[in-house]
Amino acid sequence: MSEKDLSIVICCIDYRFWPEALPLIRNKYGDFDLIELAGSSKNLISPLEAEDKKALLENIEISITLHNPTKIIITNHIDCGAYGGSRQFESLEAEILFHRGELIKAKEIIESKFPEMQVMTEFISKNEKGEVILI
Ligand SMILES: [Zn+2]
Repeated sequence: MSEKDLSIVICCIDYRFWPEALPLIRNKYGDFDLIELAGSSKNLISPLEAEDKKALLENIEISITLHNPTKIIITNHIDCGAYGGSRQFESLEAEILFHRGELIKAKEIIESKFPEMQVMTEFISKNEKGEVILI
């Protein structure tokens, strides 16, 4: 076990982001169980199928039962295809603002289902050098 409490991380499947983002999240929060679904928070707010939301919530329950995590970190990322990508937005600022709203909605849904859990949000982006960053 890490010195830090165990977490659950909810993350999109996108190969352009998770390989660099997950180590950053691990450095910040310590060990975690990982739930990866295309669109991440979209599965809670506007899932393509009701089963997608059910599967995500079931995976949280399984993690709680098996490993007793204390925190849930819900992430979204820039240019997420499940949300139609960056082209859906007029600007980077508009895209970030939209995803911050989605993350807050997802946080509220998780908190209502799992009131004992501390829920945090992270937005995954890239800097000018193309490096993955948490903002
Ligand atoms: Zn994505």
